[in-house]
Amino acid sequence: MGRDRANALWHLAEEAKADLRDLCVHIPEARYTAGLVHGTMTAKEAAHDAAEVDLLVREYGYTDARMCDTDEMRALVKSPRYHSGLLDMGAGQIHPLRYALGLARMAEAAGARIYERSEVHQITKGDPAIVATHKARIKARHVILAGNGYLPNLERKVAARVMPLNSFISATEPLGARAADVMGQDIAVNDSQFVVNYFRLSEDGRLLFGGRPSYRMGFPQDIATVMRERIAAVFPQLKGVKIDYAWGGTLGVTIPRLPAVERVAPNIVSAGGYSGHGVALSGLAGKVMAEAVAGQAGRFDTLADINVPPFPGGTAFRAPLLALAMTWYSMRDRLGV
Ligand SMILES: Cc1cc2nc3c(=O)[nH]c(=O)nc-3n(C[C@H](O)[C@H](O)[C@H](O)COP(=O)(O)OP(=O)(O)OC[C@H]3O[C@@H](n4cnc5c(N)ncnc54)[C@H](O)[C@@H]3O)c2cc1C
Repeated sequence: MGRDRANALWHLAEEAKADLRDLCVHIPEARYTAGLVHGTMTAKEAAHDAAEVDLLVREYGYTDARMCDTDEMRALVKSPRYHSGLLDMGAGQIHPLRYALGLARMAEAAGARIYERSEVHQITKGDPAIVATHKARIKARHVILAGNGYLPNLERKVAARVMPLNSFISATEPLGARAADVMGQDIAVNDSQFVVNYFRLSEDGRLLFGGRPSYRMGFPQDIATVMRERIAAVFPQLKGVKIDYAWGGTLGVTIPRLPAVERVAPNIVSAGGYSGHGVALSGLAGKVMAEAVAGQAGRFDTLADINVPPFPGGTAFRAPLLALAMTWYSMRDRLGV
C-alpha cells in the first residue's frame, strides 16, 4: 500500500476505536473495558506477534501492545493451550446490544427516525433513488447501504465482494467462584487458530465463548453441543459445563479482510465487510459515508481505494468454495500444522 496510504488507514482505524470509546461515555451501560489478548499456540506464532508489536511501535508509535510470556499468559487466561499472548490495552470489549440500543437512542434524540421491520427489497437508481419496501416507496436523494452480511442480494456489486459468514456464541451458566479458575482478569481473548476462538466473561460471570464460523445459510440446531466441545478444548476444567444460551449472527467478510467501501451510484454509497472488526469500524464507515453525502469525500475515498476483489465463484459457488477452504484450514488447526 505504501507508507502514506497505510498511515492514513491506520489513523482511520484508531479514530474508529476513539469514537467508540467516546460514544461509550454516553452509553455507560455498554461497559467499555480495555484489554484484548491474542493467544498464540506456538513459539513460531509468538515470534510473529512479537515482530508485529515491534512494527507497531516503529511504524505507528503505538505503545499499547506488548507480549506476555507463557507464565503471564496463563495467569491471564487459565488455559494450558496457549504458549503466550499479545496483550493490547488499546483494544477492548463492550456489551454490543446495549451499545446498539444506546446508539439508536442518541440518533433518535438527534432527530433520526428509525423504522424497524421494513425490509428494503429493491432500489431503483436515479435522482431521487426509489427505495421500495413491501409497504412503501421512498424517494431518496441519498441512499446509504449498511446492511453488511444481511444484504446479500440487493446490490450485485456489493454482494460480489462481501460474503455473508455466520458466527456463533454460547453463554455458559454463571460460573460463580469458578470464573476465577478460567480468567485472571476481565479482558477479551481471541486466538491464532484459523477457526478462531473468542471469549470473555460476562457481567454476571458466564463464559461467553464464540467461534465455529459457517458459510452455510441458516443456523444449525447443535450450536450448544459444538461450543461445549470447543470450550472444553480450551478450558478442560469446564468440561461438561452447562450452556444456558447459544445463538448466531451474520457478519460480512472480504478477501483481504478489510472493509468494502464504495460508491454504487452518484447518490448511493455502501460500506460493509468489516471481517469481524465491525463494532468499531462500522461507526467510522457511517461517519465517512455521512461526510461523502455532505459533499466531502476525501476520507470516504481513502477507504474506497482499498482493493477488495470479488470472491471467485460468483454468488452461487463462492460459499461452497470457502466452506471447502475452511474445512482444510480447520483440519490444519487440529493437526497443529
Ligand atoms: C457472533 C458474532 C460475533 C462478532 N464478534 C465481533 C467482535 O468481537 N468484534 C467486532 O468488531 N465485530 C464482531 N462481529 C461483527 C460485527 O457484529 C459486525 O461487523 C457489525 O455488526 C457490523 O455493523 P453494521 O451496522 O455494518 O451491520 P449489522 O450490525 O449487521 O447491521 C445491518 C442491519 O441492516 C439491516 N438490513 C440488512 N438488509 C436490509 C434490507 N434489505 N432492508 C432493511 N434493513 C436491512 C439488518 O437487519 C441489520 O439490522 C461479530 C458478529 C457476529 C455475528
